[in-house]
Amino acid sequence: MFNKKSHLLIFGKGFNYSEDGPGNRLIYHLKGCNLHCPWCSNPDGLKSEEYEKGTPVDELLKEILSCKPMFFDGGGVTFTGGEILCQADAMENILFQLTENKIHTAVETNASLPSLKRLMPYIDYLIADFKHPNEKKLMQVVGASLLPIKDNLKTRVLSGKPLLVRVPLIHGFNDNDEALEGFTEFFRELSELGAKDSLWFELLKYHEYGREKWEKEGLPYTVKNGFISDKRYNEIMEFFRLRGIAAINT
Ligand code: SF4
Repeated sequence: MFNKKSHLLIFGKGFNYSEDGPGNRLIYHLKGCNLHCPWCSNPDGLKSEEYEKGTPVDELLKEILSCKPMFFDGGGVTFTGGEILCQADAMENILFQLTENKIHTAVETNASLPSLKRLMPYIDYLIADFKHPNEKKLMQVVGASLLPIKDNLKTRVLSGKPLLVRVPLIHGFNDNDEALEGFTEFFRELSELGAKDSLWFELLKYHEYGREKWEKEGLPYTVKNGFISDKRYNEIMEFFRLRGIAAINT
């Protein structure tokens, strides 16, 4: 069914507990991304060179299966980025095989490419970014189209499988009332489509974990003051709550 020789370009791996999916998880960071968020935490993982071959999927599967005893408390494997959809064929291959082997799978994605749909049946827990509700602003700042993102999220909700929608809150980009109205409008639409016990919204405060890496790469870090104060954050949570969206804060 799949090309067994497919490879995945990976630039980091390690365990974490309950940050990117339930339980104890083995996290793989995949190379490459189709977007260009100025606040990206992993600018070092965005480039992938044509000559790089990567790790064969069958080798990766062996490695994951050997870690099975570590997947306690409902844990498993999470693939994050960069952007996993830039390697959609190999991702489909590994996710399918993990599902066959009954390993819990999670994926974190910017959800901006239609290929996410064919991967969904093999993703037990999907974490999808929703960075801005306005098409023009989203395209201008990060280079994404809004339509495929909305379409992917709706498809997931309709499937009834778990979906965590993550909003990275960034001052000057998406923390004004107009953007917040746009977020809550779409999130209400999503909530009306499906089971509320498998759909969550998370508001993440801007951080600068990536700044040093940008500087190391010799790239300009262009976000001037993206921080959200505690006061503003609480106001935003309340804004969501008043419109019927109970966002979570981790
Ligand atoms: S989508 Fe994620 S990995 Fe890609 S540039 Fe934006 S923050 Fe970085």
